[in-house]
Amino acid sequence: MSDNDGKKTLGLRGGAGRPGNVKQSFSHGRTKNVVVETKRKRVVVPKPGASKPGVSAGQPGGDPSKRPAGISEAEMARRLKALQAAKAREAEDKQRREAEEKAREEQRQRRRAEAEQKEREQREAEEKAKAKAEAEEQKRKDAEAAAQRAAAEAAAAKAAPAKAAAPAKREPNHKPAPAATPRKADREREQRGRGRGQNDGRRSGKLTLSQATGGAGGRQKSMAAMKRKQERARQKAMGGQVEREKVIRDVQLPEAIVVSELANRMAERVADVVKALMNMGMMVTQNQTLDADTAELIIEEFGHKVVRVSDSDVEDVITDVEDTEENLQDRPPVITIMGHVDHGKTSLLDAIRDAKVVAGEAGGITQHIGAYQVTTDSGTVLSFLDTPGHAAFTSMRSRGAQVTDIVVLVVAADDSVMPQTIEAINHAKAAEVPMIVAINKCDKPAADPNKVRAELLQHEVIVEAMSGEVQDVEVSAITGQGLDELLEAIALQSEILELKANPDRAAQGAVIEAQLDVGRGPVATVLVQKGTLRQGDIFVVGEQYGKVRALINDKGERVEEAGPSVPVEVLGLNGTPEAGDVLNVTETDAQAREIAEYREKAAKDKRAAAGAATTLEQLMQKAKEDENVSELPILVKADVQGSAEAIVQAMEKIGNNEVRVRVLHSGVGAITESDVGLAEASGAPIMGFNVRANASARNTANQKGVEIRYYSVIYDLVDDVKAAASGLLSAEIKENFIGYAAIKDVFKVSNVGKVAGCLVTEGVARRSAGVRLLRDNVVIHEGTLKTLKRFKDEVAEVQSGQECGMAFENYDDIRADDVIEIFEREEVQRTLD
Ligand code: GDP
Repeated sequence: MSDNDGKKTLGLRGGAGRPGNVKQSFSHGRTKNVVVETKRKRVVVPKPGASKPGVSAGQPGGDPSKRPAGISEAEMARRLKALQAAKAREAEDKQRREAEEKAREEQRQRRRAEAEQKEREQREAEEKAKAKAEAEEQKRKDAEAAAQRAAAEAAAAKAAPAKAAAPAKREPNHKPAPAATPRKADREREQRGRGRGQNDGRRSGKLTLSQATGGAGGRQKSMAAMKRKQERARQKAMGGQVEREKVIRDVQLPEAIVVSELANRMAERVADVVKALMNMGMMVTQNQTLDADTAELIIEEFGHKVVRVSDSDVEDVITDVEDTEENLQDRPPVITIMGHVDHGKTSLLDAIRDAKVVAGEAGGITQHIGAYQVTTDSGTVLSFLDTPGHAAFTSMRSRGAQVTDIVVLVVAADDSVMPQTIEAINHAKAAEVPMIVAINKCDKPAADPNKVRAELLQHEVIVEAMSGEVQDVEVSAITGQGLDELLEAIALQSEILELKANPDRAAQGAVIEAQLDVGRGPVATVLVQKGTLRQGDIFVVGEQYGKVRALINDKGERVEEAGPSVPVEVLGLNGTPEAGDVLNVTETDAQAREIAEYREKAAKDKRAAAGAATTLEQLMQKAKEDENVSELPILVKADVQGSAEAIVQAMEKIGNNEVRVRVLHSGVGAITESDVGLAEASGAPIMGFNVRANASARNTANQKGVEIRYYSVIYDLVDDVKAAASGLLSAEIKENFIGYAAIKDVFKVSNVGKVAGCLVTEGVARRSAGVRLLRDNVVIHEGTLKTLKRFKDEVAEVQSGQECGMAFENYDDIRADDVIEIFEREEVQRTLD
């Protein structure tokens, strides 16, 4: 009974609050919309009958006169019955009872609370409770007399209209609602509806139905309702908050988010999120990535708040503070030497270095770290990048590392302006870096510096000797002529540029070169651009991060710190960065790692977006564009960026108008599986320069037949590629298909072995030709014929449509249904260069 009580009280409350839709306030401040609605309905039903049920409650029995009141009662009775039945069934279920008791307690508490708030509500609630209690008692008594009640219900249904007022007592929800809420009209309508219902309304329909079915329909309905109620009450009592108040979260939404992570951030179930996405027409799994717009829709759908964050926000910790005038100090210029191949870039770099560095060193041992510093006679310090080549220059620039302050354009006096000279000029101009022209090889008899100057004029480089502004110096890397002049010219140019940097800030630098050193791990040569890099600094560089374990200068000495324009080798990275990557010192390890991880992921996404297919497509497109040119695709992996660049440059030079080498990919580090994948897809060999394939790459390469070649001398590599390219030249014209023969039968002939009885199906079979044995279109064997017979005679040729006997030289595994492909090779050996 009390259980019923409780439930009804709930119902009353729901109605009492706002019959419409909204808040049913509970002791814990929870709200329930659905419940309110359900109850409203119920309230509507009993009301009409309830007006007098209070009266009838006393004697609900079988009195027809009390039926009017009994209508609602009858329903209640049914419910109660159902409840009782359920209880009976679940009598053993202790928990349920406890739950119900708790529910009752809760209700009482609520009642009290409400009483404090609104006396009227309290009174009503009490009335309701009483009424219910009475009703329940009656019902219990009457429980056995179900049939009688059914009859009573039927009668009551008819009498109900008159009792509109009565229900108020039973379910005070009703009463307060009209008074307290702005929905008077609604209520009135409801009441009217009720009145009508008895005759023809919705209500009456239902009642009639239940009547017609002897109350069975009504019973079912109320049973379900009761069960639901019970369930709710039990769960509440058990402490399980069925209808937890929605916690609205601020969901941090990056540019892309995995479904499961999105669910996690909203604290929703993944399944619900997937379902919501399905409702939006998106079939996704929890591991799929959503773009921010889709994710935002979902977040809103779940009622949370979107806080858009850009993943790149993690980079914000790298503050790029503008340095003020007083912070800035002079810094050495950074010089890159550019020019046409063989014009003496390397020689010049070596000459400068030898003249200015080695001479002054006790041990005389210099270390190649990708950059070095020299001091001119006048005392100016210059930093030279030791990696000549335009690719290095542009790839750095494209990575946002504008390292170079001054370009020294080397032009051989005996060769003058060449294509790469022009290219270098364009690069320097594009980067808006001032140039100094070094006219090299002036020691040579054929040297004609003025020709160089004149030709440069055509490319809008007006040297001083031609009354322009670009300094020009005649030098010889071999004799050392003009080197000091060149350095002074650079010093002067640097003075004009007024290069400054603030050494007292978190360091920023650019990677000149990076490699994986067997003993020391990943090592990067960094040219510090701003601030001072110190041992122990935490940094992020490209997709890598680390803590400076040691700094080594260009003389191979350990140093504590490196200021602006100083190149140093940095030890302590977690991986090998790439040339052009920018190094930034961060405050914490976590920041560095976070940024590195973000960059790695972003790069991965980018690669995935670009897709291997695209690359292949592009390749094919390119190939189509130059149909007459054969390409030898290769992959290059080298130990250092400088070597990779050098190899790529050398590769670009190989070839003529018929064949050329295409470097699909070049990189630093071990040959990996992804390299093998690319090589396989493009039919390219992989050239490893001082690097090896890792185990899995080796296996994959073996399986897929990808050729990996190792070199430690660049010239060997170049020679091999040249040879291969030459092979490509001749290979193209070589093989001619002649015919096909189908094997009908296989005979064993003594002294000969197995002989295939064939039918030439296409072309001709030629004794002297090469043959391939195909089984299910797979080449099983390639070789030559031992015999070609027509009937008993050895013949030179068998035409299409004729039968013949064939046997392979040194090969016996032939079967019926195999196919023999006959081809001829025409060998024309040509070479490149
Ligand atoms: P790079 O390809 O521009 O780096 O050119 P290299 O530095 O490799 O030089 C190419 C060739 O020119 C080498 O054989 C050098 O010995 C030679 N060479 C470079 N500079 C001079 C020079 O000033 N005088 C002479 N006679 N030969 C030079």
